[in-house]
Amino acid sequence: MPVLNVNDDVERVSGAEPEPLPAVKSVSRRPRVFPVCANPRCTSSWLQLWRNRRVPVVEGGWLCSPACTRARTEDLLRREYAEARPATPHRHRVPIGLVLLRQGWIRQEHLKDALEAQRRGSRLRVGEWLVANRGLSEMQLTQALGLQWGCPIFSLEQHASALPVTLIPRLITESFGFVPLRISPLGRVYMAFEDRIDHSLALAVERMTGFDAVQGLLPTSEFAVAQRKHAESRFSRARLIEAGSADLLAEAFALHIEKEKPTEARLVRVHDLLWLRLWRYAERSDASGTLGTAQGNGIGDVIGSITSFS
Ligand SMILES: [Zn+2]
Repeated sequence: MPVLNVNDDVERVSGAEPEPLPAVKSVSRRPRVFPVCANPRCTSSWLQLWRNRRVPVVEGGWLCSPACTRARTEDLLRREYAEARPATPHRHRVPIGLVLLRQGWIRQEHLKDALEAQRRGSRLRVGEWLVANRGLSEMQLTQALGLQWGCPIFSLEQHASALPVTLIPRLITESFGFVPLRISPLGRVYMAFEDRIDHSLALAVERMTGFDAVQGLLPTSEFAVAQRKHAESRFSRARLIEAGSADLLAEAFALHIEKEKPTEARLVRVHDLLWLRLWRYAERSDASGTLGTAQGNGIGDVIGSITSFS
């Protein structure tokens, strides 16, 4: 019998004021409240099942049966595709050549030469061409990109003493070209890019890790060092699932959850990839909801990709 859902999954109709709750005189004699299945359409006799299984738990909600795990996974996938993503602003950015001109770091004729090189099919972007051919320094280009994107410039000296290599699976960092540099004591994860930032990606990292993401740029040569250092580190294993449809991916994720029986799992979409993370122990570390991160132990990642075989 479906019981009041304790997992905060209940959709609340906006506009309706909640009824004030009656004052509770004493909770001591109330019977223990059993968790209820997190699948809103569950029809199982959950009490009996609760005696047999305490896991899996997905996004804080216990699932009573493989069928409910499957239904919940489908709901989460649907949510990930339905949610609007923050758009990374492209339209309002000032062209890099103009930023460089305004700063007085190049002259008008340098920009003309760079644009002419583009027209002739140069594979270098305007800024890269100016660094290669007109004496623009790498740091000036990075500073101009920082002005263009409105983001800070990082340095390896400040940040990369201990790269948090198991925070984000390599498949995600390499697919989207960034390096997680550091986790600060204040719970911020510094994400370094070479020539742009990515708000949608940062949001996905925040939702998965519980850390606040700070995005910034590293000068090209430092970025290459950070990338190499990151690639050479030991990663926890991530499994890749390629599925022909969202339904098949939901099925594969649900089977994986049923096999691993996590004490917590979360799902986020990162552009065209679905990132499922499973925790096998209760690792909630503090009130901020930050889950165990970089230990590798007890954490498993699955990356899902929907391919079309048409
Ligand atoms: Zn159920």
